[in-house]
Amino acid sequence: MSEFISIKQLSFTYPGAQKKTLKDVSLEIKESDYLAILGTSGSGKSTLLSILGLINPPTEGQYLILGTDTKDLTERSVALLKNREIGFIFQNFNLLNHLTVQQNVALPLTYNADVARGAYHDKVKAALDKVAMADFAQRYPAQLSGGQQQRIAIARAIVNNPSLILADEPTGNLDSENSQRIFEIFDQLNNAGKTLCLITHDENYARRAKRQLRISDGQLHEF
Ligand code: ADP
Ligand code: MG
Repeated sequence: MSEFISIKQLSFTYPGAQKKTLKDVSLEIKESDYLAILGTSGSGKSTLLSILGLINPPTEGQYLILGTDTKDLTERSVALLKNREIGFIFQNFNLLNHLTVQQNVALPLTYNADVARGAYHDKVKAALDKVAMADFAQRYPAQLSGGQQQRIAIARAIVNNPSLILADEPTGNLDSENSQRIFEIFDQLNNAGKTLCLITHDENYARRAKRQLRISDGQLHEF
């Protein structure tokens, strides 16, 4: 059986930059894996996540998903994979303030042609239930605490039932009680079979993952 994700000798250089942000990174990720990535600011963590999330293509080396080299995918296949198979969570939640919780969480469904409009309500409800926020569907983001906003952002990330969840310092703006709650949700998602790859500054949270990796000077080391 092929790995879920396989990265081989991958390097990445930003356009116009002098040096490589990522150097000879190799990484195998199995289905239902749970990775925590640590590293100092500027070490290349977000860059690696942007490659995993099909936002940036590698400049050298390979990124394979289920045996398919992502460089062979059409633009349309990349868009479909991003919408259906990958959920992205950010440090600053990135909710749309003029939309209700219900509308924010439904957004990825509106780009999914396989989901009929009539199915939105139940799918949004199911996603909100997973983060214990179903009672807040009619609120606006500004009417929620940071921890609650991040739980809505997680609901939005999982509403299309993706297999891979990527989170870039998801608790970077939260206090320890709210952070704890977010990591409990990640544990539940991983127990339900989701593959998780998240960036954190906190070694205590990193220990909850199955695997711990560190990026230093563009190179990735597992420890
Ligand atoms: P981290 O998430 O670990 O803080 P990043 O992946 O954001 O690090 O950045 C790694 C390096 O790449 C940094 O030196 C940063 O300045 C540089 N970088 C990040 N984004 C860009 C960009 N869009 N263009 C050029 N350089 C960038
Ligand atoms: Mg970053």
